[in-house]
Amino acid sequence: MKRILITGCAGFLGSHLSDRFLKEGFDVIGMDNLLTGEMNNIAHLMKEKHFTFYHHDVSKFVHVPGDLDYILHFASPASPIDYLKMPIQTLKVGSLGTHNLLGLAKAKKACLLIASTSEVYGDPLVHPQSEEYWGNVNPIGPRGVYDEAKRFQEAITMAYHTYHGLDIRIVRIFNTYGPRMRLNDGRALPAFFGQAIKGEDITVFGDGSQTRSFCYVDDQVEGIYRLLMSDYHLPVNIGNPVEISIKDVAEEILTLTNSTSKIIYLDLPKDDPKVRKPDISKAKEILAWEPKVSRKEGLELTYQYFLKKIESNN
Ligand code: UDP
Repeated sequence: MKRILITGCAGFLGSHLSDRFLKEGFDVIGMDNLLTGEMNNIAHLMKEKHFTFYHHDVSKFVHVPGDLDYILHFASPASPIDYLKMPIQTLKVGSLGTHNLLGLAKAKKACLLIASTSEVYGDPLVHPQSEEYWGNVNPIGPRGVYDEAKRFQEAITMAYHTYHGLDIRIVRIFNTYGPRMRLNDGRALPAFFGQAIKGEDITVFGDGSQTRSFCYVDDQVEGIYRLLMSDYHLPVNIGNPVEISIKDVAEEILTLTNSTSKIIYLDLPKDDPKVRKPDISKAKEILAWEPKVSRKEGLELTYQYFLKKIESNN
């Protein structure tokens, strides 16, 4: 039986990945310091024989007894609101945390996959973004703590690959949504769902003409799984290339939820990328992967999750 360590296992993506690797027959060790993760997301796994939970901050030395075949590093605050509130922890988990996991992977001869992000492209001057684009990032802006931690994470991971021969994977994750997102994480989709369901104003930032491309979580998990199982060590974009403006997605959510909420327009946060859309040619070619879930289906599934969550008040 293969053993995998998943950091950030109580978070949105980490918990879905824990489910997937258990389903694939792995022994899963989940690690989380619960800064932004929630035990609710993994409560159903706590009685699984092949799931072990460690409450630990990976920015501190990481000890895991026994063999490890794979490590997935998914621990990090990941929404602009979260990393604005926790700038130092965000920098530390991407830098010190990654260094600790690289050391662990080297000691265990494990393959390490790091969760990078479309934020490495910053406010992109090339559209859509392919893996060859180096990005346009403001290192000292509000997003710098996340963007630069993730860029450093890629650099140090690649250095361990070239210098130590470590087996690595780098996934650049574009906006992903679905059940288990936190309603209060400040991201556009949970914010709009929460507001629409409660009849509050829908807070669109700027004029809403900025674009994003939203990937449903099951597609994202499938892409990550395929990347880990491949032997490709360079960065791969995983995301849905169907682009939409924020105003249009707010309107789709209003229609879907049958809400009487009104859209209000607030100031655009500093350095908010104006456009974002992944070029997924590489994932298609190397992993034979592309998203399968349409936004209509994905938003409906997400709506049902938030509706239940708000109705049951947890
Ligand atoms: N956004 C918005 N209203 C909100 C939250 C976010 O208009 O209540 C906008 C935000 O300014 C950005 C887009 O929606 O342009 C996506 O934001 P999100 O925080 O989901 O992720 P980002 O892609 O910016 O990291």
